[in-house]
Amino acid sequence: MKVLKSRQRLFLSAPHMSGNEQKYIQEAFDSNWIAPLGPNVDAFERELAACVGIEAAAAVSSGTAAIHLALRLLDVKSGDRVFCSSLTFVASANPVVYLGAEPVFIDSEPETWNMSPQALQRAMEAACREGKLPKAVIVVHLYGQSAKMDEILAVCGEYDVPVIEDAAESLGSTYKGRASGTMGKYGIYSFNGNKIITTSGGGMLVSRNAEDIAKARFLATQARDPAPHYQHSQMGYNYRLSNVLAGIGRAQLEVLPDRVNARRRISERYFQELADVPGIRFMPELENTRSNRWLTALAVDERELGVSRDHLLRSLAEDNIEARPVWKPLHLQPLFEGAAYYSHDEQHHVAEQLFQTGLCLPSGSNMAEEDQTRVIECLKSILKKGWRKKRGMSEERKFMLPKQFSAKTFTPLKS
Ligand SMILES: *Cc1c(COP(=O)(O)O)cnc(C)c1O
Repeated sequence: MKVLKSRQRLFLSAPHMSGNEQKYIQEAFDSNWIAPLGPNVDAFERELAACVGIEAAAAVSSGTAAIHLALRLLDVKSGDRVFCSSLTFVASANPVVYLGAEPVFIDSEPETWNMSPQALQRAMEAACREGKLPKAVIVVHLYGQSAKMDEILAVCGEYDVPVIEDAAESLGSTYKGRASGTMGKYGIYSFNGNKIITTSGGGMLVSRNAEDIAKARFLATQARDPAPHYQHSQMGYNYRLSNVLAGIGRAQLEVLPDRVNARRRISERYFQELADVPGIRFMPELENTRSNRWLTALAVDERELGVSRDHLLRSLAEDNIEARPVWKPLHLQPLFEGAAYYSHDEQHHVAEQLFQTGLCLPSGSNMAEEDQTRVIECLKSILKKGWRKKRGMSEERKFMLPKQFSAKTFTPLKS
């Protein structure tokens, strides 16, 4: 691949420090709390819980660990079934496998790209007929956009199945005024290096039930019974967050609203610059939801655009710009070969279509304006040829490809 040396690498989503991190790290050093517990851990938990408006939170070493703990709280065991969004990162489902349980994958729907309530309904009906309902449903809020939680919670409520929200990508997003990650029985957030805020690595488990969170902390510290001689009656994990890293998290949390606004500004600029290119449709934002726009994602209609998604990705890579295809659906992963999967409907496999046509653009909140200009110029130069050839929108709308943002669906920025 030819990479122009003069072009600096532009990342999809780079860490963005606020400058205050060192203050909290210094406090950890000054008090010698260099351990996976301490004042920064306690404060980070309190501050995050307050930020999303929930009763309790447990800081852990990763988002994956938080999902694992949520499944343990729900007593997921070998042979159990867990439903999970298919269009997601593998970490959403790996903890199901850790516990020897069987994942069942649920397709997306076109309006949020997230779990299809109607596919979920069919999966529940089938599981009910077999007499083997899932122990949990893991719902992912992709790229910051909340799934259709009212519909999903209604289906799960009908069968009395608890919901775990994988909000690893959606901290700072809202659904009908409620924080993403606070509507299910449990919610999880990730502070990995590429997320909207980061502790380099870390995660959080949240719940309205403080007792459950206390139990999660217990499991996350090797399930140590209250005895001076290290007694254990359950299997636990070493999953607590370092007090040094929790310090980074505290400073990052202070700037979360700025980070959301910055990412929304970036996606809005992509939208304005590329909205009238026929064959490009941005990930929609559902009415009454506000996405943190962690990543700006779009789907390409090759017939309309005259250029393939892969051609766009290759050209961006040649310009040293990191862009990525949309997640490969988990039901297509070799790891999960043979796992059950429920499509949106008989004809429409929404996640597969998005995987074939979707890509994510550089979206970091610290991306300079001229860096974004570089991405836009690169895209425009590739599109010019095909675009001229195919000018004029075709009336035929491919079902899968969501409507592009319109001025109406675009929530104005709060400055
Ligand atoms: C990042 C991510 C995770 C995992 O979080 P880690 O902190 O990296 O373990 C889980 N689910 C989704 C959807 C993610 O994007």
